[in-house]
Amino acid sequence: MSEMNGTVVEVHGMRATVLSHDSGRRIRCRPLRDRRQLAVGDRVCIEEGRGGWEVLELDERVHSLWRPAERGRRIMASHVDRVVIVCAVQPGPRPGLIDRFLVAADAEDIEVAIVVNKTDLEGVELSRMILEPYVSLGVEILETSSHAGEGLERVSELTKRGMSVFAGHSGVGKSSLLNVLFPGIELKTADVNAQTGKGRHTTSVTTCHTAGDPWPAGAMVVDTPGVRSFGLYGFELTQIAHGFREFRELATGCKFRDCLHETEPGCCVREAVDSGALHLGRYDSYLGIVDSVRRGEG
Ligand code: GDP
Ligand code: ZN
Repeated sequence: MSEMNGTVVEVHGMRATVLSHDSGRRIRCRPLRDRRQLAVGDRVCIEEGRGGWEVLELDERVHSLWRPAERGRRIMASHVDRVVIVCAVQPGPRPGLIDRFLVAADAEDIEVAIVVNKTDLEGVELSRMILEPYVSLGVEILETSSHAGEGLERVSELTKRGMSVFAGHSGVGKSSLLNVLFPGIELKTADVNAQTGKGRHTTSVTTCHTAGDPWPAGAMVVDTPGVRSFGLYGFELTQIAHGFREFRELATGCKFRDCLHETEPGCCVREAVDSGALHLGRYDSYLGIVDSVRRGEG
């Protein structure tokens, strides 16, 4: 019998592929005996028995991302060091996804960076305007063109260590960007599709790729499909308010301690919106998220 520590890098139903920290091998494993769902990034102890490899233990999860599922929420990844939200000059950045990830990441103490891809296209100025509120929040914004090969160095530098979850709406060039950043990753892009005329292979599986030093010292890049379903289901409404960083200081002045900054009297957040001190787009986005979480949609 031999035991090893590793990181889950692929999940197929209840089964998982674990990257061994000792040998660097990717090992298919049987599920945990208690049938708990595993997720990429999970730190586990595995053991080889007569019936093959088996996941013995799951370390405590930290820095997790969740997504809504039929019954409650389902874990998307754990031990996440940073979320890299990829958007593009065309189609322009959409705050809905960015704001949701900021709330989710904040609640789990995960770093966030935004990459604006396709800077070779027109509309860079407009994108900068849309993303202005995030600059004030201290979120790093990186501009890239995967086609022109621009701005890639800073993204490489940022993702050189630890686990980076890349997320973005389809069409922003996330696959193209990952392909140029991490040669060998070989993700299918929309262009491959155009050439072959075949339907794009849209996998519903989250995939992990390593780069640089051997894992866990090096980089792990996680490509998540299905961000469309990314939401904040199961979050407390107060957590959502807390995830809007620029509300925090103002909220200490609200009349009610648990103020959700909607129609409550004596709300300093709303006052700041009315006076123009707080970005209206962010406030609207906040109300939209609170509304969709109330409706159980996240
Ligand atoms: P994904 O859905 O986010 O993975 O996007 P893809 O990588 O499949 O790219 C979507 C489309 O955007 C493709 O037609 C790419 O050629 C194009 N694209 C990707 N990166 C760039 C870029 O830097 N500049 C321009 N102009 N187009 C890009
Ligand atoms: Zn308030």
